[in-house]
Amino acid sequence: MKITDERDFAAANAFGLGLPNSAYARYFTGNSYLNPLTAPGDSPIALSNVSFEPGCRNNWHIHHASKGGGQILICTAGEGWYQAEGEAARSLAAGDVVVIPAGVKHWHGAKRDSWFAHIAFEVPGEGCSNEWLEPVTDAEYALLG
Ligand code: MN
Repeated sequence: MKITDERDFAAANAFGLGLPNSAYARYFTGNSYLNPLTAPGDSPIALSNVSFEPGCRNNWHIHHASKGGGQILICTAGEGWYQAEGEAARSLAAGDVVVIPAGVKHWHGAKRDSWFAHIAFEVPGEGCSNEWLEPVTDAEYALLG
């Protein structure tokens, strides 16, 4: 379900908005928010809820690993997009799960007319690193739904 109103989104965003995602803002177009769900040291797996304002998306990027790794997105509120390079964009809504293998160039974010949130789950592996690439241009983004 698309959510345009910020207060409606706050009510639907069960895992919380958190704070402006300022540490990664240079890798996003538009405003995003990060709410850590696990404390450092609690678990080898870190979970965070990431919220995107309408039109916000992250740059193309790759989750690298020499073994294992990758990322899982658990969509929690609103509607958004996931796109892997060379593939059509996939429409996402609350309840959808996206498995992103290590090494796949991709981006994820909100639809232009809806807030969106997903829990991001970094899959454990060896030699893990993130490579941030070019933004999704307005022309590319405008082609979507
Ligand atoms: Mn990713």
